[in-house]
Amino acid sequence: MHELSIAQGVVDICQQHAGGRRVLAVTLEIGTLSGVVPDALEFCFEASTSGTLLEGARLDIERVAATGYCRDCDRTHPITAYFDPCPACGTFPLEVRSGEELRVKDLEVE
Ligand SMILES: [Zn+2]
Repeated sequence: MHELSIAQGVVDICQQHAGGRRVLAVTLEIGTLSGVVPDALEFCFEASTSGTLLEGARLDIERVAATGYCRDCDRTHPITAYFDPCPACGTFPLEVRSGEELRVKDLEVE
């Protein structure tokens, strides 16, 4: 499962940054284009944190909306998929500017 390896990666990163302290909460930024299913990730997170510094930690997931830049309009538009054309002028493809995020934004330690 994709989300399981992501959850394990998150646990590794957090443990490296926790300096041996217990982690109380983790905030993750997940872009809507990242392909990560938040519910599945939450489930895997619980399983992956067992026996680590993150055991019992709260997982906060912040969804990042996808946007694409259109050269013709010189504007950034919201998009829902990678290959959406520009909603204003139909130019295709747009340069994806956000929505691919998958990162630990914040870590709360004891
Ligand atoms: Zn455009």
